[in-house]
Amino acid sequence: MSDGVYVIPDNRVPIVPNVGIVVGTRAVLVVDTGIGPRNGAYVLERARRLADGKPLFLTTTHFHPEHGFGASAFKGVATIIANRAQRDELRRKGVGYVDMFRWLGPSIAAELEGVELVEPDLVYDGDAELDLGGRHVVLRTVGPAHSAGDQTVLVDDRVLFTGDLFETRMFPIAPYFPPHDVDVDPRRWIGVLDELMALGPEVVVPGHGELTDAQGLRAVRDYLDYVRAESERLRTAGTPADEAAAAVAGSAHDRWPTWDNAEMIGLAVHAFYAAG
Ligand SMILES: [Zn+2]
Repeated sequence: MSDGVYVIPDNRVPIVPNVGIVVGTRAVLVVDTGIGPRNGAYVLERARRLADGKPLFLTTTHFHPEHGFGASAFKGVATIIANRAQRDELRRKGVGYVDMFRWLGPSIAAELEGVELVEPDLVYDGDAELDLGGRHVVLRTVGPAHSAGDQTVLVDDRVLFTGDLFETRMFPIAPYFPPHDVDVDPRRWIGVLDELMALGPEVVVPGHGELTDAQGLRAVRDYLDYVRAESERLRTAGTPADEAAAAVAGSAHDRWPTWDNAEMIGLAVHAFYAAG
């Protein structure tokens, strides 16, 4: 998609993420793996072709299965890097998410067959920089927002990988699944999107959906702020969470009628209710 930056597009297929491959003169960085060992092996094969013998690094935007559960294909072949919060979140919730995702259907269960949750080789706090040779990459800890361990990847101050902090023309995934997972922080998420817009990236690679730019990020930021305001209004009026979720699901769907994943709206309302 630009000098030395490649994207395997999701083509809006559910549970398929956008995957990045960043090629420098000395090393190659893969961003996200797809779900399970088979997808991980496919991504690895693509990366190896582009790397032409150069050392490989792998990082994941967050621990969720379609972003990180192909990492076993890379273990021992690439140097795997993650922030500490993401590593810890994988330890806490990885097995539970394998079970949860198996229930999404037989094709997902098949991809998770034989999945191995692997730990990163390198763990960092805050920010980490990678010099791939003519390609400068900043890994930044920005969670908790969509997940506890969210990480953005910024290449040459120009191309930003957001993971699921942003999806194009989709109601963003709000993984509020009590009691298994209540780490989504919807208020902080709005602030993170403001920070990402301020970086002014030319190209934004979302977790799912088409590529966009800094201004494109505003759509999800405004949606989350709408859900925040409506949730606060309804809670103040004494509306129970389930009723509020149904009401906001209807009104948000009317406002953003072309977006997919409408089932995520109610979860976002519950997350804001829980956030108090
Ligand atoms: Zn996710």
